[in-house]
Amino acid sequence: MKLVESILTKNPCYTAGRKITVKGLMLHSVGCPQPSASVFIKNWNSASYDRACVHGFIDGNDGTVYQTLPWDHRGWHAGGAANNTHIGVEMCEPACIKYTGGATFTCSDNEAAKASVTKTYNAAVELFAMLCEKFNLDPLSDGVIISHAEGAKRGVASNHGDPDHLWRQLGIGYTMDGFRKDVKAKMGNVSTDTPVTDDTKPVEKAKLYRVRKTWADSKSQKGAFKNLDNAKKCADTNDGYSVFDEKGTVVYSGKSEKPKAESFLFRVSISDLNIRCGPGTNYLATGKFTGKGTFTIVEVQEGKGSTNGWGRLKSGAGWISLDHGEVV
Ligand SMILES: [Zn+2]
Repeated sequence: MKLVESILTKNPCYTAGRKITVKGLMLHSVGCPQPSASVFIKNWNSASYDRACVHGFIDGNDGTVYQTLPWDHRGWHAGGAANNTHIGVEMCEPACIKYTGGATFTCSDNEAAKASVTKTYNAAVELFAMLCEKFNLDPLSDGVIISHAEGAKRGVASNHGDPDHLWRQLGIGYTMDGFRKDVKAKMGNVSTDTPVTDDTKPVEKAKLYRVRKTWADSKSQKGAFKNLDNAKKCADTNDGYSVFDEKGTVVYSGKSEKPKAESFLFRVSISDLNIRCGPGTNYLATGKFTGKGTFTIVEVQEGKGSTNGWGRLKSGAGWISLDHGEVV
């Protein structure tokens, strides 16, 4: 996906400066035969254009995505309550269609129109997958990804038919249900890098570390991380999982494959000793505590925040610091 940052800093919506907690994404299409995103961006980036503002446009000629507001900025795209919860993105529409009233149009070149709409659809899938990752959204959850038309039916947007009307009349076979599924399938394979500002330079694909059972078993994927440490933590909290690089090579095999030391008993002397997901205070606390008592430790590793090292509990609950008690 080519992503270009082109913030509408002069638009009154931008200067209003309101932020939202992003709970969903709304897909629009512009409703006029204008494939060029830059035409909209030029017109909308004005202090006198106070009618609308969206977070992004997708160009109908080449599928380039232009980010036009910070993603968590409150936009003016829905004409309803969805502005308070949803990011709004407009797909540009083919030049060869002609509106004859409302959402009805004729099309002088069906093949060209379909080619353009395919580009905007595919770019929207990638963009929405990236945004779902960024904001921790499940594309298949009710009301998370909706079209403007669906928003209208749900009472959170004004009475528009986009983009469903476009797909339906072109007979291209796209539906919002299909779109949501395509977004879900794309997740884990999109770079979440910050956009470039130079529109001649495509976004570089970030190196991603994927956490899976095996490389071939892509369905087992628990996550894709730019940061190797985060990927390792994820693998550590999922038994039998490893971290793979871009080429499918194992870069970390997870705690389950580490050699096991001889086990020993350790008596914990405090009641509120955290059990962590890995050997170090840099690993997440599980939210559970050992309580005072004697526990079987099956492996010891050095790690952050414990002078005597970290012990892995035989129970599988996680790791404890060996600073608070004694070997018995
Ligand atoms: Zn719309």
